Amino acid sequence: MPQTAQVATRIGDVIPKDQPIIVVIDGPAGTGKSTVAHAVAKRLGLDVLDTGAMYRAATAIVIDHDIDLDDTDAIVAKVADADLHFDWNRDPPAILAWLKPLNERIRSEDVSAIVSRISAIGPLRAHMVRKQRLIAQQHPRLVSEGRDQGSVVFPNATVKFYLDADPNVRAQRRVDQLAGAGVVVSAEDMLQRILERDHLDSTRSDGPLVCPDDATILDTTEMEFDGVVETLVRLVNAHV
Ligand code: C5P
Repeated sequence: MPQTAQVATRIGDVIPKDQPIIVVIDGPAGTGKSTVAHAVAKRLGLDVLDTGAMYRAATAIVIDHDIDLDDTDAIVAKVADADLHFDWNRDPPAILAWLKPLNERIRSEDVSAIVSRISAIGPLRAHMVRKQRLIAQQHPRLVSEGRDQGSVVFPNATVKFYLDADPNVRAQRRVDQLAGAGVVVSAEDMLQRILERDHLDSTRSDGPLVCPDDATILDTTEMEFDGVVETLVRLVNAHV
């Protein structure tokens, strides 16, 4: 499943403009959630919220301000002060801290290495959940992707999806993605990192990665990108 794609809005698929709708896509790292969420949002004429970008931004702030990883009060205070929000005029929307775009900083290896640790901080999650719900009030036609979107943030979402894939395949996708950006990582190393991140994400006490009971599960291991997008678009349209 390729990790990038040019997808156009298709008139026949667009959800009527006066209809609020929240589509959530949760799942572990490397399942293609983000690319799929952007493509599905484009096809349906909806906005897209990358909640991983918010946790990554918080992590970049912690690193760049040299905040002690155990000082949760200082972390939450600094992240709140940054007033994280998105510039919706960009495609995809860009995350801003102190009104400045963080751009590729949030995808750096040092951020990826500790993002799951930072994301496990309960008061930080509460802050993010509040922000995500506010974003949904301002963008009521939304595809939101992350780990806890169907379970905690939007339990009444219109449609819920959970994407999964074989960890080896997920690791290889990340390796290929990084190779495209000129970063070389071995598949074994990446598998270790992904398994560690999955473990931390699914065992934390606040907002762990879970598959909600009412979510449609898609295993993307053997699926082509277009097939995943097509399936989600069809299922959302069947709901509305
Ligand atoms: O989706 P992405 O891989 O960019 O997410 C980075 C990390 O952010 C995840 O591994 C997880 O620790 C955290 N995250 C989270 N809750 C979300 C989205 C992401 O804890 N809703």
